[in-house]
Amino acid sequence: MELPDRDVCYRALESRDSRFDGLLFVGVTSTGIYCRPVCPARTPKFGHCRFFGSAAAAQEAGFRPCLRCRPETAPDLASWRGTSNTVSRALALISDGALDGAGASVETLANRLGVGERQLRRLFLQHLGASPVAVAQTRRVLFAKQLIHETRMPMTQIATAAGFGSVRRFNETFKELFARPPAALRRLASPATADANAGVTLRLRYRPPYDWESMLAHLGARAIPGVEAVEGDVYLRTVEIDGKMGSVAVGHEPARECLRVTIYFPVVRALPAIVARVRRLFDTGADIETIDAHLSRDPLLAPLIAQRPGLRAPGGWDGFELAVRAILGQQISVTAARALAGQLVAMHGTRISTGAVRHAGLTHVFPSARRVAAASALGLGMPGARQVSLKALADAAAADPLLFRPFGTIEEAIARLRSIRGVGEWTAQYIALRALREPDAFPASDIGLLRGAAGEDGARPSPRSLLDRAESWRPWRAYAAQHLWAAQGASIGKGGSVNRGGMQEGGA
Ligand SMILES: [Zn+2]
Repeated sequence: MELPDRDVCYRALESRDSRFDGLLFVGVTSTGIYCRPVCPARTPKFGHCRFFGSAAAAQEAGFRPCLRCRPETAPDLASWRGTSNTVSRALALISDGALDGAGASVETLANRLGVGERQLRRLFLQHLGASPVAVAQTRRVLFAKQLIHETRMPMTQIATAAGFGSVRRFNETFKELFARPPAALRRLASPATADANAGVTLRLRYRPPYDWESMLAHLGARAIPGVEAVEGDVYLRTVEIDGKMGSVAVGHEPARECLRVTIYFPVVRALPAIVARVRRLFDTGADIETIDAHLSRDPLLAPLIAQRPGLRAPGGWDGFELAVRAILGQQISVTAARALAGQLVAMHGTRISTGAVRHAGLTHVFPSARRVAAASALGLGMPGARQVSLKALADAAAADPLLFRPFGTIEEAIARLRSIRGVGEWTAQYIALRALREPDAFPASDIGLLRGAAGEDGARPSPRSLLDRAESWRPWRAYAAQHLWAAQGASIGKGGSVNRGGMQEGGA
């Protein structure tokens, strides 16, 4: 794994340079502790420092997380290290629990990614400096530590939430690392509480800048009635996982460079998966400074990036939901697509039980693929051909629950999506961009992108010439797309025109 040389790393540490936060960790050999570069503790001697590119690498080398700077609160940029898509995909699966619990294995994980187990280990070592198992173990420890520090959850619940097989295992791990039981790390004066109604509030740090306004405008313009809402400066939505329902509220704390997430959910085991979805939706893991710098080299993009520094590529909360929206949005405006999605939810979504409701506007969870597949007629006000597409999508998603999860290469993912009736190149690229979080996905035929890339004379490029130009934007074409959409949206009114794409497809 490539790190700057030791002198540069040490200077970052001496100056407590926050630009290295999440990208650099320092293990101190005299204490056995590892820190973020911004740690307020006295700077260790040069000779006592070992530098790592990930928390997992520091932990695998035998260091334990610092209790002062709390490495678990560093921006989670791991998936951005290196350019290995396989590693990014593997990390997404690990954060969903792919290596937690009995029966989980690196071999199964490698199979899902279409690589050999040895190759996966080699890639992890190369890009993260740690093995897949060490990465999973570090995630569990750091997530548990965050829950201990930031919430009032009882320790038994934290053990479950963080993916430890048992409370005993949780206790042993913490005693081994910190020489004390987990409860001893909690400094809160108030006693633990198991009150699910209080919700669990966590802070997710990002690497600044973060264009929160654009993110909220994007989500607000597309908020599905009954499922999502933007109220004031907070995004709200319902959550359904394995038949259980709840909700999340996400706000912004710019001074602390983090998002504040409150989760109301009856099953603590689902917490990591919900947090992972919030991270994906709000794109908190992007190494945005590097991306913006790379894209700014193109004179077409430079002024756009200067105008919206820190613009993120919003993800999809759920793959099926996102894909449905992509199809609903073919050839119509964002507003019309939103209304259709609301109709679909009102007719086929599940009404949320009163106990789980936190907000008057949140009434339903989005219908599952199985439900849409089983419906005899959708009854939506849109062309019959597109309703057939929706049913085909639901059939495919119901038959393969992993349809929208990272799998193989981007080309394979696109080909797999395109095999669904009614999903053409634009829709497949759009789903890859939002739902699969492919940072390099690029729906080149999108009318909004072509408009955004128009020259000063207003002449739009052809999709082919836009694709050629976008070669130099790799591997972050999705961010370039977001900037072009945002610029184009600003010129035609609030909300952008993302879903207007697909016009080129002629209802493929
Ligand atoms: Zn520290």
